[in-house]
Amino acid sequence: MLIDNHNRTINYVRLAVTDRCNLRCNYCMPAEGINFVKNDQLLTIEELKSVASILVGQGVDKIRITGGEPFVRKDLMVLLRHLASLKGLNDISITTNATLIGPYIDELKVLGIKNINVSLDAIDRATFERVTRRNQYDTVHENLIRLIAEGFNVRINFIVLEGQNEQDIIPILKVMKHYPVAVRFLEEMPFNGGSKSFQTIKWDYKAILKHITNHFPDYTLLKSPITSTSINYRIKGHQSTFGLIPSFSRTFCGSCNRLRITATGDVITCLYGKPKANLRDLVRNSTDGREVEQAILGAVGSRAKNGFEAQGEHSKVFDSSMTSIGG
Ligand code: SAM
Repeated sequence: MLIDNHNRTINYVRLAVTDRCNLRCNYCMPAEGINFVKNDQLLTIEELKSVASILVGQGVDKIRITGGEPFVRKDLMVLLRHLASLKGLNDISITTNATLIGPYIDELKVLGIKNINVSLDAIDRATFERVTRRNQYDTVHENLIRLIAEGFNVRINFIVLEGQNEQDIIPILKVMKHYPVAVRFLEEMPFNGGSKSFQTIKWDYKAILKHITNHFPDYTLLKSPITSTSINYRIKGHQSTFGLIPSFSRTFCGSCNRLRITATGDVITCLYGKPKANLRDLVRNSTDGREVEQAILGAVGSRAKNGFEAQGEHSKVFDSSMTSIGG
């Protein structure tokens, strides 16, 4: 079992498989001039398999595959097949922009992978294209509907961006009311590849809830697991639920059960903190994985108490992009 220095059990890992993405969401990356790492700095699929196996051996029972866009990686299914074979790994989830997932949906089902988070920050085509700087609206909607129809647990992640997509909050709830999905509204975080930094946000989770309440006053609070980052509700008459994720306000750190491994093998114990270890060379040179295990234990044993303390650990937090951290 992985237990951190604040007595929190870590059983959930977010594993980034690439830093590349085929969209250019303007709150995540600059339009051009992104410093993607060289291929040989990325963990290979075999190395990702080893890291995942070690983590599962240490008590991790949930792995979320993220990126970059995970499906940009052509050999992703090789990794997913391996994860599906790991005893003790009860939950394999994927976070995707849903542009490239189409050809893999059938096999994901066969592998028993059910939980798919789709990042979608607009219901309106023009807003989608402005935010993502790409022309993938139809593909995303087609794949989203297919995932829902095929019975996946789909959660839509919608980052509320001041001046960009707030007008889509109510329409996306109106469209999704007919589907069994969770629509989760996230606060914007200061990880956008350095193009913009900020200390406050207009659309914090309270402002989002107030806005929704003005249109849909009749909702109930749902019970959520203690480690859930989202506060979840159901509007009367809606099949969908909605959630609020205070990722900038950071109200959930006390029960944080997650660890992040970037595509280059950095171990990140808090989104706002700096990497605590790097696993790439260790896994590349190791025969029995011991050094990797030790590095993970060391990182988990020196976690910041919360995202504010972590942010205080370094001044470069605003330079990072979520495409290298994995969200
Ligand atoms: N490509 C996949 C996707 O689109 O979901 C996975 C990687 S993406 C970096 C993971 C998540 O990070 C997405 O939901 C994205 O919206 C979120 N994200 C990226 N930059 C963010 C920021 N500045 N603030 C909040 N969330 C951000």
